[in-house]
Amino acid sequence: MSATIIDGKAIAARVRGEVASAVQTFAARTGRAPGLATVLVGEDPASAVYVGGKQRACAEVGMVPFDRRLPADASFEEVADELRSLNGDAAVSGVLLQLPLPGDLDGAALTAMIDPGKDVDGLTPVNAGLLALGLPGLRPCTPSGVMELLASVDTKLEGAEAVVIGRSNLFGKPMAQLLLAENATVTTCHSRTRELGEVCARADVLIAAVGRARLVTREFVKPGAVVIDVGMNRLTPEEAGNKSGLVGDVDFDAVSEIAAAITPVPGGVGPMTIAYLLVNTLQAARALAGIQ
Ligand code: NAP
Repeated sequence: MSATIIDGKAIAARVRGEVASAVQTFAARTGRAPGLATVLVGEDPASAVYVGGKQRACAEVGMVPFDRRLPADASFEEVADELRSLNGDAAVSGVLLQLPLPGDLDGAALTAMIDPGKDVDGLTPVNAGLLALGLPGLRPCTPSGVMELLASVDTKLEGAEAVVIGRSNLFGKPMAQLLLAENATVTTCHSRTRELGEVCARADVLIAAVGRARLVTREFVKPGAVVIDVGMNRLTPEEAGNKSGLVGDVDFDAVSEIAAAITPVPGGVGPMTIAYLLVNTLQAARALAGIQ
């Protein structure tokens, strides 16, 4: 068997196009386009690249980007003041604090200060709680994007065995909740899981978000499973040989021979994260404007 390759780039482009046309409708109705504020503390190059990508994507769909930057030695109170000011700014529909923060700034405490109605990363305790309770709220972007990728290949989730490797607040936990809400039987694995390969081999849907290159080998995968690779791992030039230096958590070449469908890295899950940031910003803007 040779797996269907799930084209996250194309699906994300479609989602962004849908957001762009909805932004026009929203702006015509309210007289203002949704605004997305990113807050970057310090000058970590990777974080600056991520923030730049989010700003560009936001402008491309007709939203208004607000680019707030603070120095690496900013105090907790200075970052908190910036977040309070954005919470109170009616032109800003969504607020995103780029993590990780430098030094000993407490990212979780600062994230919790974002107005839950503007929490477009879905990471505040309020939105995490709403998800756990099955109530409407803003959901974390990457797991929401994965749900769209699963739907794109008509994955049957009801009653399916779904295994998520990774239990981070950013991805693994909300991913498990979203799958549970669709009536999958969900197992969450982590670094203390015993017989990881055997647990994974039960999965109809296997989702890896670990950060270990090619941890998921062919032996981990049940033939016919849908495999989603969230991991992003940079190989050294020696490890990469003549191939791209970015690989996922799944041994793509071997697993794609037996899976029913699989996401590549790059071009799978990654593009969906920004697409869903835009979806969430539109959702937040509508809710703030009282539009269904
Ligand atoms: P994280 O917070 O570091 O969590 C990693 C998880 O993997 C933890 O739950 C950890 O278990 C588990 N783990 C580590 N080693 C393991 C092993 N040998 N066997 C089983 N589980 C193991 O990472 P994250 O933020 O969730 O991200 C995970 C990966 O996804 C990273 O590569 C990241 O770059 C990528 N990612 C990509 C996107 C995207 O947009 N494409 C978005 C988010 C994340 P413990 O809890 O026991 O430590």
